[in-house]
Amino acid sequence: MTIGDGQMLWTHSGDSHFIEPPDLWGQILPPDLAQRMPWSERVGENEEVLHVDGKEYRRTLPRFATKAVGGMTLGDLSSRPPGTRDLKARLSDLDHEGVWAEVVYSSLGLWDSMISDRRLALAAAKAENEWKAAEAQAIAPDRLVLAATMPLRDPGDAVQAALHAKEVGLHVVALPTPGIPNSTTYDHSVPAFNSDAWEPLWAALEETGLVAAFHVGGDAGEIAMYRGPGGAVLNYTSSTYSGQRAAMLMVASGALDRHPGLRVLVSEGGASWVPFLGDRMEEAYRQHGMFVRPRLSRPPREILYTQVYTSFQHEPSALVAINGGGYRNVLFGSDYPHIEGTFGHTQETLHELLDGQTPEVSYRIRQGAFKELFPHVSDPPAA
Ligand code: MN
Repeated sequence: MTIGDGQMLWTHSGDSHFIEPPDLWGQILPPDLAQRMPWSERVGENEEVLHVDGKEYRRTLPRFATKAVGGMTLGDLSSRPPGTRDLKARLSDLDHEGVWAEVVYSSLGLWDSMISDRRLALAAAKAENEWKAAEAQAIAPDRLVLAATMPLRDPGDAVQAALHAKEVGLHVVALPTPGIPNSTTYDHSVPAFNSDAWEPLWAALEETGLVAAFHVGGDAGEIAMYRGPGGAVLNYTSSTYSGQRAAMLMVASGALDRHPGLRVLVSEGGASWVPFLGDRMEEAYRQHGMFVRPRLSRPPREILYTQVYTSFQHEPSALVAINGGGYRNVLFGSDYPHIEGTFGHTQETLHELLDGQTPEVSYRIRQGAFKELFPHVSDPPAA
């Protein structure tokens, strides 16, 4: 099969992004709360001031951010497709690219972890999740899977927000990737995800069927770790390790073992690290057995392979993971509308990667694994 024969390889996507209206807090929160929410003021070519609940934080923007690469700033929107903000316009982009259903991460809330008032964080998360369900996901509820915002200063608040997200009709919650505990940006006031403090959240997610989604680079630590030669490649590559740390914490802590119905999605981090990590965790669990706690009821590799799903964009090694590594929870992700993604060449990429594969593997990557996480989505039109 070739690209030229025009067959549309319909896919779902485990990774896409959306930018909320700039005045959203004013629309959905009472004025006294809205004015306390984080907002960014650009004060120079490479500098911004973050306003968070009456405090100001001045910071130098990493070079990639001033160029609007990676979607971590609101700058340079003109270079993005209109579907970045307008979900109706997005649907026609998706139809054209051959993407049917997708997980949609929002952009506001990147700095919510800087809000120290728990009540404000919880109120904002609930208000935003109601808006996401009613105004965004409702545009195509069988295609758009909006990831809920979560307040994470307190596990009890997180549980409340998760139950509320389920109640309003969301299917997945976005969790920040774990930073590196000895780095300067690490927030020690929040328990790490291997802490038993989070047990009620894992129980709530399992109970409700909400998927726990970690988008790589979702922590402050590694966005701009390196400067100098190779910096762009070093920083982008390093950001993917954050998703691997999330998976390791969830497996090693026993969270996934105690909650076999809980599923994790690691978006944009590729798939081929899963067999590698499975090997390393097996070795640690066996060879360091006398130090290992908690003991797990299943081998770490099995927990990782069955409960952790991953999305990739371009990499041929995802096929090595599924064919050679026996790791089957591999999802394609377009990363729309980011420049690391496949917007503009999604079909070309899918044909290049999948034309030589069995129909079973091709279907698994494009739709099968996604449907295990989100069985409520509809099927794309027949190709
Ligand atoms: Mn992405």
